[in-house]
Amino acid sequence: MTSAGELLHRYSGAMVQVFGQPQLVLASGHGCWVTDVDGKRYLDLLSGIAVNALGHGHPALVQAVTKQAEQAIHISNFFTSEPAVLLAERLLTLAQAPAGSGVFFANSGAEAIEAAIKLSRRTGRSRLIALESSFHGRTTGALALTHKAAYREPFEPLIPEVTFVPPDDADALRAAVDDTTAALFIEPIQGEAGVRELSADYLRLARELTSRHGALLVFDEIQTGIGRTGHWFAHQAADVLPDAMTLAKGLAGGVPIGALVTFGGDVTTLLGAGHHGSTFGGNPLACAAGLAVLDTIEREDLLGNARTVGALLDTLAVPGVSTTRGRGLLRAIELSGIPAPAAMAAAREAGFIVNAVTPTALRLAPPLILTQAELQTFIDALPEILGVAAGPA
Ligand SMILES: *Cc1c(COP(=O)(O)O)cnc(C)c1O
Repeated sequence: MTSAGELLHRYSGAMVQVFGQPQLVLASGHGCWVTDVDGKRYLDLLSGIAVNALGHGHPALVQAVTKQAEQAIHISNFFTSEPAVLLAERLLTLAQAPAGSGVFFANSGAEAIEAAIKLSRRTGRSRLIALESSFHGRTTGALALTHKAAYREPFEPLIPEVTFVPPDDADALRAAVDDTTAALFIEPIQGEAGVRELSADYLRLARELTSRHGALLVFDEIQTGIGRTGHWFAHQAADVLPDAMTLAKGLAGGVPIGALVTFGGDVTTLLGAGHHGSTFGGNPLACAAGLAVLDTIEREDLLGNARTVGALLDTLAVPGVSTTRGRGLLRAIELSGIPAPAAMAAAREAGFIVNAVTPTALRLAPPLILTQAELQTFIDALPEILGVAAGPA
């Protein structure tokens, strides 16, 4: 195999440099482990940023994709397929969506958000509300709802009439939502912001205000959905139903997919024939993969596993760790006095893949199949990793 050094050199000569220099050149994965082209193994505690829900090479996913590839990979939206219908029905059941609800399949998270933005325009209103420190994706519509100035400003003007409000601030939300609001977009746990959970009270207030003013409540569950937090969808812990929900990342275990779920007939029928579309969206390959992921989460009780394994990170008595945040297997470790990028690099050297989600916090979003023993190896190694990252005293 070509060496990492050579491939990285050729990468910089062949790719648009939007991601900077990649950290590794990976060759393969098995379970929660990945191997780079030089043969070094790593415990994958990020799973492609909350994507490889079943880890790497899970037999149920491999078999479903292989079988579906033999039958039909793509058919266009002039036609439909059994996997597409079954996956839509399954998502509606898991979401406890009322009669008349529906699913639109896309190919990525940002595309699911775009569909939600178009849905919101069909209310006849155009004002959108999102939260400060939100992340909803990189396409121009999704970007307009993404708070980080460094992502947004180079591409302005974006769609207008977006208001950002501080998260978990009830008064600010009351002041912002009114009869001109088309939709309020909320990540129940703000992943890219450093795994910052919103309170159940805040989610309920969001439901109450949007209902009162005839605005749509959209939960972006692209990172938090599909079992990641120990619930099928994170908002289920707060016992509120949105008008729409976006999904992507974990849904097909790594095969590209996105979905917009619309709740109830009044919302679902806002989009009618000709209003939206996607060439690849809802293709049988991605939908068969999605079904295999949902079946496996259920069969292997991976919701329960996310809760019990994730609980090992509820508290960490390790020097250099100030707090931990998150739920299930979406977690942040907040560091004190140690830059997160240095900790990420030291972890990688020690054979663990984690992510410096902010300058001071590491994010863990491992496969939902992670065992307690696997996670414990990281916890045991953490004091030394942070010692290396802190540098010579
Ligand atoms: C990753 C993510 C997106 C964007 O998804 P893409 O597939 O990268 O377009 C949107 N919202 C949230 C909450 C995400 O975590």
